[in-house]
Amino acid sequence: AKDQGRNRFSYFTPNLQIAAQSRLRLSNDLRLAVNEQQLEVFFQPVVDLASGRILKAEALIRWPHAQLGYISPLEFIPIAESTGLIYHIGEQVFKVATYWVRRWRDLAHPDFQISINQSPLEFQNDQGRYADWLQHLRRHQLPGQAITIEITEGLLLDASTKVATRLLEFRDAGIQVAIDDFGTGYSSLSYLQKFDIDYLKIDQSFTRNLTPSLNDLALPEAIIMMAHKLGLSVIAEGVETTLQRDLLRQAGCDFAQGYLFSKPLPPEEFEALLLAQEAS
Ligand code: C2E
Ligand code: CA
Ligand code: CA
Ligand code: CA
Repeated sequence: AKDQGRNRFSYFTPNLQIAAQSRLRLSNDLRLAVNEQQLEVFFQPVVDLASGRILKAEALIRWPHAQLGYISPLEFIPIAESTGLIYHIGEQVFKVATYWVRRWRDLAHPDFQISINQSPLEFQNDQGRYADWLQHLRRHQLPGQAITIEITEGLLLDASTKVATRLLEFRDAGIQVAIDDFGTGYSSLSYLQKFDIDYLKIDQSFTRNLTPSLNDLALPEAIIMMAHKLGLSVIAEGVETTLQRDLLRQAGCDFAQGYLFSKPLPPEEFEALLLAQEAS
């Protein structure tokens, strides 16, 4: 057992060093990329299940790294959070999103909406960004309803006044709020009554398991029914098959997004898709 312990130690140390080195390198590279505005915002269509039309899009950040190719946000968002770069990233995403949502409201649909992901850190520390947001909205003559902010359930269980204050600010500005990855974390639902929430996004893990079996449908159906009773709309994530889409529609789900409709696209490609739909 002692030998094993020593072996484990000698294997572990270099790995930790490599991990720390590559993390340091990545955070340096990320700082440069953010400063030089190299991060890109992609858009994934959100489809109205009743009409089949794209009425919304989710903004998803992309980092094209010169040597490593595209790095997943799952990998660099934690680095951005620990280095404070997340605030600059969030600012850039909001700016880009307001530009495109103005365009797509004019070109395709007057009520078009774009949703933006917020990490808990961003949500809790304003750093004056909220005032900037309102300016971006005003500059493009957009109502708050053009933007939905996606947050996770954990935030709403933390009863801090910061969270409640931010949600009230959003409500005053008309900015909408979605609960991302709904159903993965917590069992308490009382926050849904306590706060002004507009959308529940059913997590991909539920969508993935959807088959016509009564058991698999029970949970999504219950979520949809509850959401509607509380006046919320439901967006299903990770829809990859027509079967999943049809089952969700039958269950009364309002919107869906996933590879079945489209992967996240650069804005120009998203716009082409949107215009093709308007023409048909
Ligand atoms: P999320 O908000 O849950 O985003 C959904 C993820 O599922 C995206 O991954 C999307 O590309 C992927 N996806 C969409 N449709 C399908 C499908 O049909 N099947 C499968 N298997 N996956 C699908 P992505 O773009 O890699 O983003 C990962 C996470 O990074 C996001 O999860 C979000 O939490 C975070 N993120 C992305 N952009 C931002 C941002 O601008 N700010 C912050 N704070 N976080 C972001
Ligand atoms: Ca999201
Ligand atoms: Ca609202
Ligand atoms: Ca999600």
